[in-house]
Amino acid sequence: MTTASALVLVGAGRLEAREIPVPDPAPGEAVLAVEACGLCGTDHELYSGVLATRLPLVPGHEIVGTIGEATPQFLEARGLAQGDRVAVEVFQRCVRCEACSAGNYPLCRYHGLGDSYGNRPLEEGSGLWGGYATHLVLTPDSMVHRVPDHLDPLTATLFNPYGAGIRWGVTLGGIGPGTTVAVLGPGLRGLGVVAAAVGARAGYVMLTGAGPADADRLATGKAFGAHRTVDVHAEDPRRMLKQDTGGLADVVVDVTANAPEAFVQAIDLARPGGTIVVAGTRGHHTLQGWNPDRLVGKELRVLGALGVDGAAYRAALDFLGDNPVLGQVSRRVVGLDPDEVGGLLHQMAHGPDRPLHGVVAARPIGDPGRSQGGQRHGNGHGMSTA
Ligand SMILES: [Zn+2]
Ligand SMILES: [Zn+2]
Repeated sequence: MTTASALVLVGAGRLEAREIPVPDPAPGEAVLAVEACGLCGTDHELYSGVLATRLPLVPGHEIVGTIGEATPQFLEARGLAQGDRVAVEVFQRCVRCEACSAGNYPLCRYHGLGDSYGNRPLEEGSGLWGGYATHLVLTPDSMVHRVPDHLDPLTATLFNPYGAGIRWGVTLGGIGPGTTVAVLGPGLRGLGVVAAAVGARAGYVMLTGAGPADADRLATGKAFGAHRTVDVHAEDPRRMLKQDTGGLADVVVDVTANAPEAFVQAIDLARPGGTIVVAGTRGHHTLQGWNPDRLVGKELRVLGALGVDGAAYRAALDFLGDNPVLGQVSRRVVGLDPDEVGGLLHQMAHGPDRPLHGVVAARPIGDPGRSQGGQRHGNGHGMSTA
């Protein structure tokens, strides 16, 4: 029997290397040979214990790999063949319930956060439900998207943050040709919004960051096509916006992680009748001392945006395949080692020198050369202890 090498989260800050038997796929299932798993803020919250969940489990939810042993039902239902490289969606979909029929599968009656990839306990089934492992079980209700042939697996893990950029900026925010856009927060999701806005032929895109730690990220935003980048600690974004465009933003997307006060800035930057998209969660941060009349006075439209859907994931993979520059982000890659993964999660959350993109490579990546552009961290050989 094949065994998977996996990292199991057993408690706050405690990852353990374990060998887990890989089951033969049941009807409708397949086994994924995991290549790479992207990391985000949720990974750190899970690791550090901020997110309460049922442990132990194998974390990791931004997963790319190739289809290994698979049942004909699994392949036929998805038009896939063994060996195809795919990106895995976080949530499963039953197709039978009301929410799923309406396309709103994060609210599925039979599935949810509790059995989403990277968040499902080891005690259920094979336990192979996370991307910090060499193998993952794809259920009959799992959703996968074919990765374009020429896209390497490390870059492909960006399908998640860039999918968010497309859905939050273009689908929900309504960014289109000529739109004036302000994006607050230069993390991967903010950069994803910038890229999506440029791709949608927005007329003007501003990206803001805060302080010297964001300088690299703002430079990446420029490379992605932002017309103006602003360090809000040094310059007034509203003044810059007026100077550049003669007015204010049609759409403001607030993708800041720990800065609830950015919401007030979003109100300042939006034109009367404009749209503010508040995207991604802010944990325990709350905002005091702002007057809701400021929304009323400008008749602003405020939208909350939480997740990503299949259409946006699909679009993000194609977008990544067509625009190599989008893969050129500062990246640190580590192998399946508890200390290396823990160290990378800590570095991404607290610095110093936070890489924009952190990836766990479950196995040596075949062609690392294609994902190295613009890389400042990591040695480009799949494994790094930078
Ligand atoms: Zn994530
Ligand atoms: Zn459902």
